[in-house]
Order: sequence, then structure tokens, then C-alpha cells
Amino acid sequence: MSALLKLFRSTETHFLSATKHSLFLRRSSTMSVPKTDLERAAAARDLLKSTFGQRVTTFDDAASGPYVALRAPWSTTCHTRSAAYFQPVSPAEVSTALSIITKTQSKFAVRATGHNPNPGFSSTHEDGVIIDLHRLDTKSFDEETGIASVGAGNTWGEVYTWLEGKGRSVMGGRYEEIGVAGFCLGGGMPGFVNLRGMGCDQVRGFEVVLGDGNTVYCSAHVRPDLYRALKGGGSNFGVVTRFDLQTYPLLKTQYTVSLYKPDDYANIIRASVDAHKEMEHDPKAAYFTNVHRDFVAIGQLYADTPKEEPKVFEPFKKLDSMLAPVVPKTDGTLSTLAQAIGHRPPKGKRVIFTISTKVDQDLYLAIHNIWQDVTATLPSSADGTDLHYTIQPVTAAAARAGRDNGTGGNALGLKEVSQNWYVFTLEYPKNGHDSVHRTAMDSIYEQVKKTAEDKGLLLDFVCPTFADKRQDVLRGFGEENVGMIKEVAAKYDGHGVFQKLQYGGFLVRDLL
Ligand SMILES: Cc1cc2nc3c(=O)[nH]c(=O)nc-3n(C[C@H](O)[C@H](O)[C@H](O)COP(=O)(O)OP(=O)(O)OC[C@H]3O[C@@H](n4cnc5c(N)ncnc54)[C@H](O)[C@@H]3O)c2cc1C
Repeated sequence: MSALLKLFRSTETHFLSATKHSLFLRRSSTMSVPKTDLERAAAARDLLKSTFGQRVTTFDDAASGPYVALRAPWSTTCHTRSAAYFQPVSPAEVSTALSIITKTQSKFAVRATGHNPNPGFSSTHEDGVIIDLHRLDTKSFDEETGIASVGAGNTWGEVYTWLEGKGRSVMGGRYEEIGVAGFCLGGGMPGFVNLRGMGCDQVRGFEVVLGDGNTVYCSAHVRPDLYRALKGGGSNFGVVTRFDLQTYPLLKTQYTVSLYKPDDYANIIRASVDAHKEMEHDPKAAYFTNVHRDFVAIGQLYADTPKEEPKVFEPFKKLDSMLAPVVPKTDGTLSTLAQAIGHRPPKGKRVIFTISTKVDQDLYLAIHNIWQDVTATLPSSADGTDLHYTIQPVTAAAARAGRDNGTGGNALGLKEVSQNWYVFTLEYPKNGHDSVHRTAMDSIYEQVKKTAEDKGLLLDFVCPTFADKRQDVLRGFGEENVGMIKEVAAKYDGHGVFQKLQYGGFLVRDLL
């Protein structure tokens, strides 16, 4: 792409948004700000409707039935009734929506796919409006630079399939349906994190609509402070409308997922720890160990298609408790891998949290025992209740990759040590008792954290994409990064639109 075209692409939306913005301001300049949150959201809804017509829907619109059903968030804890759902088709429209929000002082949330299960992150009640980005689904590929530019409404499944048609790959999420946007802004752990680092490390540029309505571009060379802060710093700075992603020649993958007997947990944990140690010498390897009451699922993933079984997986081969292979050994790509390990569970409530620890067999066993005790306090799995945890190995190389890729690093503050990002997920039926389940999650969180802390194996970092809303995610990035994020938020969002009016998120305003 020519330099002139690049310059145009980074400034065109600025011009368009400025035009629409001023038209809107002329129309609404006499408006006074309503008194309550509900009234402010209703005022924003009315202005959005009069400006954008049918692309603004409400929960009760007959026509919005399919919208609400199709765009329902992953966890029913987020199936709330917002004042309005606006689906912009351009950064200029995002800009106008932000002007309306600022003018009415309405609360708002930004939704890419709604896969984040924390209520209020990409959902609101009737006292807020949603900017739903799913129509920002543009995709273009620059042969010369190998950069794929994708709109913020794309999912990883869409991006993988499109890029693989061009013989290219990008390091994104392990499930097809999750959004490029929330994943990259929250750091994002790809299937092969040890190969090229985090999802945010793959972003070469962001197009962002700021709180003042301006659309700007940032990269390692243009506004590098904003660029670095966005790599993990989430929705503190603006609405990202486009991600420019580094692609690589088509990545061939090999994978298998098998189920094991849960009572063999001691051997399974030992095998997981041993495989992790081997992974430090083989960045192509990845696995997950997902422990449920009734089975343990182990996924062995490899970023190549070797004839011989990679040495790194030998510890799993020694296990004699296998029940069944659910995904037989397959040679494929990132998209076939995402299809194979993805699943569409029935609708239900979901609560998650994450804890990062160093790698240690005794710690893992202690954590398993805590999990067993807490699980015993919950209703049986027959009613759909499932408290499960996943061991997700991350090598020192993964942390280094972000620092060494020549783009100035990210905001995450990862320590260059072998580490495990535990994810605990509680799934329960829609009519389940929130307080019972919340108590269980609080209990397991406190116990696991204390056990890791007492053994000197707890790491401060918690991966934003897996974190509970009450976790101190930004602090976990380290003091220097917290300072940087605060400065960048103040510089690019001088009126604090994203701090004062945004419904939720891991925000600077919540720093303890
Ligand atoms: C089945 C499943 C599999 C998953 N697998 C992985 C995985 O492999 N690796 C991993 O790291 N995570 C994984 N996750 C976690 C997932 O990445 C996070 O929940 C992430 O926040 C989802 O982003 P989203 O865009 O899909 O969702 P959303 O809920 O729409 O957005 C998440 C957050 O990002 C903000 N946001 C979204 N778009 C923008 C934007 N354009 N500008 C500013 N702010 C924005 C939202 O306001 C919200 O706070 C998985 C989740 C699920 C449910």
C-alpha cells in the first residue's frame, strides 16, 4: 500500500467523524442534561434513534427480537435490558454516538461479541446504552507488509478463515466466536502463546475513536504511548474501530483432545507439570488441562505437523487413565483447531476468575484439593452446575516475545518466568442461586490465592481476558505500567468520558 493511501486511511475517518459530529451538535445544542441515569439513557436512546433510525434497537422492539437473541452475551448474567443497542457501521458513526453520549451524559458500554462474562463490561441495564460493534466487520490485507486490517466487529473464526484463504495466519483466540477486540485489548492468550507471545503483541496499529469524537491512529511510530497502553489496557482510552494485525505464512497445526478419569488427578497434574517444563525448550507446543468433576480434558496442541509425537507430550502418553479421545489426532490449521475445540454450551450463568502462579506440582495438588472441597458444597452436575478449572501453561519465552518484537512492548508487565494461568469457571443454570455460587467462587478464590501466596508462588499478573470484575487487574501490571496507563488515559480522554460514563471494565477509576 502506498504511503499516501496509508496516510489517507489513518485520517479519512477523522474527517468523516468531524463532519457528522458537527451536524449532530448543531441539532442538539439546545438540549439540557436530564437529571437521572434512566432519563439520560432514554435521552441518548431517543437521539440515537432520530440520528440512526433502525440501527438503534431496544429490548422490546418487535424487530429487535432477532437482534437480542442473536447478539445475546455468552453468560446470561449479562442478559440485561439496556436502554438501546446501537450498531454503527463506521468509525464516524461511533464518533457521533460518543457525542450523543457525552451530550446526554448517558452511561454506556461497548460490545464486540459479548463474550466477557463480567456484568457491566459489555452490557448495561436500562440506565445505559450499548454501542455494539458487530457491523464493523471490514477486512483487508496488505500483501507488501503482511498486515491484516480488521474491523472491531470481527470474530477470530471469521479472521482465521478469511486469512487462511490467502495462505496466512494470525495468532488469535482458541475459540471461533470470541471477538478480536476484547481479546486484543485484554492482552489475549492465543492457542500458541509461547510461539509469538500474546494477542496484543500481534497488533501493529489501532484506529481509535476518542472521547472527544476524534478518530486517531496509533502504532509503534505514531502516538506510541497510546499504542502501548492499548496492548492490555482495555477500554480506558477510546473505542477501537480497527486492528492492524501482523500475519505469518499459513501455520500448520496438529492437535488432539482426550478425556481422562478424574480420580487419576495426581498423575495428570504430574504430567502437566512435566510437559510444561519441556515446553520451555519447544515454543511450538501448547496444552491445556481442564478439570471437571466427571472427567479431565487434556488438549495437546502443536504448531506444526510432525510425523513423530513431540517429546513434550510424552508425560501425557504415560497416563493409563484415558477414557476416550474426543478430538482424534488431526493435522489442520488454526481455524480447524478453533472449530475442533470450540463448543456451544447451553445458555447459563457463568462466573470466572484467574490466578497466575509459578509452576509447582505440590501447589497444583493443593489447589486441586481446595477445588474438590468447594465443589462438594455445590449442587450436583446433573442440574448443570459445573465448577471446573484449567491449567494454562505459559513459558518465559511468551513473556519475552512481546518485549522483543520491535514494537515497544505491551502494558501487561509479564515476568519472564515459567508460569501457569489458572482459570476457574463456574457454570450454573439460569435459575441457580447466585449467592450460593458467588460464595463458592469467593471461597475458592481466597483459598487458592492464599495457598499460592504462602508458598511464595503467586504472581501479581492476572490476565484481563480471564479475570473477574473484582480482581485488581491493572495493579497486576506493575506500578510503572499503572502510571503509564493513568497518564495515557488522562492525555487521550481529557474529559474522562471512558472513566465517568463507561459502565464497567478494568478502569483507571477503580484503581484502589
Ligand atoms: C468460550 C470462550 C473462549 C475463550 N477463549 C479465550 C482464549 O483462548 N484466550 C483468551 O485470552 N481469552 C479467551 N476468552 C476470554 C475472552 O477473550 C474475553 O472474554 C474477551 O473479553 C472477549 O472479548 P469480546 O470482544 O469477545 O467480548 P466483549 O464482551 O464484547 O468485550 C470485552 C471487553 O472489551 C471491551 N471492548 C470490546 N470491544 C472494544 C473496542 N472495540 N474498543 C474498546 N473496548 C472494547 C468491552 O467493553 C468489554 O469490556 C474466551 C472466552 C470464552 C467465553
